[in-house]
Amino acid sequence: MAKIKISAVPSIRRLPSYLHTIRQYQHEGSEFISGTLIAQELNLEPIQVRKDLAITGIIGKPKKGYPLEALIIAIERFLGWDSPQDVVLIGVGNLGTALMGYQEFQFHGLNIMAAFDKNPEKIGTTVHGVTVLDANTMGIQIRNFGVKVAILTVPSTFAQETTDVLVEAGIVGIWNFTNVKLKVPDQVIVQKENLSSGYALLCVTMQANRMDEGNGKNFR
Ligand code: NAD
Repeated sequence: MAKIKISAVPSIRRLPSYLHTIRQYQHEGSEFISGTLIAQELNLEPIQVRKDLAITGIIGKPKKGYPLEALIIAIERFLGWDSPQDVVLIGVGNLGTALMGYQEFQFHGLNIMAAFDKNPEKIGTTVHGVTVLDANTMGIQIRNFGVKVAILTVPSTFAQETTDVLVEAGIVGIWNFTNVKLKVPDQVIVQKENLSSGYALLCVTMQANRMDEGNGKNFR
C-alpha cells in the first residue's frame, strides 16, 4: 500500500484552513493572495505557509503572491477534492447526524449518499435529506452502490463487526470516529479521528500562554 510521507501530514492537515481563507478572499474580489497574508489570518509563520503550499505544486509570484483561482484549483486537486466522492455513513446518532448536516463537505466533494443504522425508529427516516437504511442490509446495498468510502460513527463496541461487513462489501477507505483501532486488510486505509486531540492542543496552548503572562511562573 502506498504511504504518504509522515512529514507531510501536518501540511496536509493545514491545507483545508488555507482553502477556507483563500475562498474568503476570493469572495471579496481579490485576485492574488500572499503567503504572508494567509499566515497572518491563521496565526502561522509565512515560511510554513509557503512550504505547505509548495506540496500542491503551485509557485507564487514575487511581490504578488499566488493567483487565487489557480491556488484553489491546486489545493483541491492535491486533496482530491476536485472530483465528487460518494460515501456512506454508519451510525446515525449524535455525531453521525452532525456530520450529515455539515454543509461544508459539499465543497470537499464529499457526498454522503446513504446512511445506515440498526435502530428501527431511525430506519426509513430522512436526516438532512438522506434516507436512513437498515444496517442489516448494509453489505448488499454498499456493493450495489459501488461506494468505496465509509464514515464510521457507531458505538465503539460495534466498530469492528461493522468494519468487517464494510470491508467485505468493498469499502477501501474508512473515516473512523470510534476509539477502536480497527483490524483491516492491508489494502484498506483507515483514518482515525479524535476531536479530543484538538482540545488537548487548545489546553496546552492556554497553559503556555498563562505561563508567559505570569513571567515564567505557572500561577494555575
Ligand atoms: P450515539 O449513541 O448518539 O449514536 C450511535 C448510533 O449508532 C445510534 O444511532 C445507534 O442506533 C447506531 N448503531 C449502534 N449499533 C449500530 C450498528 N451495529 N450498525 C449501525 N448503527 C448502529 O453515539 P455518538 O455520540 O454519535 O457517538 C458515535 C461514535 O462516535 C462513538 O463510537 C463515539 O465514541 C464516537 N465519537 C467520537 C468522537 C471523536 O472525536 N472521534 C466524538 C464524538 C463521538
